[in-house]
Amino acid sequence: MKPTLPPPATKTAAVPLALFGGPPAVTRLPDDLFTWPIVTAEDEEAVLGVLRRREMSGTAITMQFEQEFAAWMGVKHALGVNNGTASILGSLYGVGVGVGDEIICTPTTIWASAIPAFTLGATVVFADIDPDTLCLDAARLERHVTPRTKAIVVVHYLGHPADMDAIMAIARRHRIRVVEDMSHAQGGRYQGRKLGTFGDVAGYSLMTAKAFAIGEGGMITTNDREIYERALAFGHYERYNAGAIQTEYLKACAEVPLGGFKHRMHQMSSAMGRVQLRHYDARAAEIRRAMNHFWDLLEGVPGLRAHRVDERTGSTMGGWYAPRGLYRREELGGLSVSRFCEAVRAEGVTMVYPGCNKPLHVHPAFNDADIYGHGKPTRLVNADRDLRQPPGSLPVAERICRETYMIPWFKHHRPAEIAEYAAAFRKVAQHAAALLPGDTGDAPDVGGWSLLKAARAG
Ligand SMILES: *Cc1c(COP(=O)(O)O)cnc(C)c1O
Repeated sequence: MKPTLPPPATKTAAVPLALFGGPPAVTRLPDDLFTWPIVTAEDEEAVLGVLRRREMSGTAITMQFEQEFAAWMGVKHALGVNNGTASILGSLYGVGVGVGDEIICTPTTIWASAIPAFTLGATVVFADIDPDTLCLDAARLERHVTPRTKAIVVVHYLGHPADMDAIMAIARRHRIRVVEDMSHAQGGRYQGRKLGTFGDVAGYSLMTAKAFAIGEGGMITTNDREIYERALAFGHYERYNAGAIQTEYLKACAEVPLGGFKHRMHQMSSAMGRVQLRHYDARAAEIRRAMNHFWDLLEGVPGLRAHRVDERTGSTMGGWYAPRGLYRREELGGLSVSRFCEAVRAEGVTMVYPGCNKPLHVHPAFNDADIYGHGKPTRLVNADRDLRQPPGSLPVAERICRETYMIPWFKHHRPAEIAEYAAAFRKVAQHAAALLPGDTGDAPDVGGWSLLKAARAG
């Protein structure tokens, strides 16, 4: 951060911003307001039990977790995997993505939503996002459909439900499969129905930074037996046996994992997952109460907009993973979001930085990288055209890091504390004019390729 000139003395007195020496808005220590996941003696006993019984590499506990997870989701099949990345790879294989196919994915996500397509000999086309939901914009999606499009990967970004009615209509019209990446939105709903039950299959990260946090782990859910068995055959050699498999063409290769991957979940994770599941809905509801209260307090503040849903429609934000606010600089005299965040941090909200996921379509891995030695970019190896998307092609995703900022991810509804954090944002927005003289603008690379650092800071 470049040092800024101290403001003139007269201004210091008039502007109470902590950045200029005023008293910070946040005065209370957070205690466990942000601590996540909540780990109790129940988790400790479950994990220690696995160690004591030396069941780390078994599957019995994982299969219990799968049954409970499927019941919680209201679906027929759940398959535990070792991380969320494996859940996307297994889901894509499950729906039949293979050589020469295209998937359509949001560019505003982590690489793990998209790059597993390469592993399968398929490629990726990115479609732009909606600047308010930060999820795929259904109105800009259909133009990317080609005869080769096999699947759409839908990310319910930062817990916000994607526009599932419109996306499912497009998928049905073109007979395209839908994979829901549920890593940000476990337990969330769209118009009353659980996210993860709209598409053909859903993949979940359950790693420690996520809202549903069990260590390293992931889950695949589906109502389709063949998809489930394909995912199982791909990465679960010891469960891929004649007894477990009903799909005829999969029977011949039993006992050798077709993907050459081992996706088995560690049982210290599944044991913790069983405990976390029992408490998840109550804890996520508490988070929602706290986060909605924070945004209610900021309603009408210039420059700031909530990234949330109207719960009266039956939609919810899941666990509200790595939350962000929307930024309208034109209402704050053009103040950059970086300068805004600098002033909010000075108020005592130390985890606030600008941006979210940088747009994947401009990353070299999706443009130049020859990952497997084909002699050309991997993205083009099995493509029928140069489908790379240069800067300027997905304008919303390319500017969204300058229109978003982190907000605190409250884990408990404590109105007095939350009011202080909201006051910090309101105070900075109200004194935006005083921040303009020291504003050096946003760096061109604002945002990150992953949200992990952001989530840890929270
Ligand atoms: C975290 C995440 C993944 C990958 O999950 P891991 O458990 O880290 O492998 C995939 N998709 C999204 C949207 C994620 O946030």
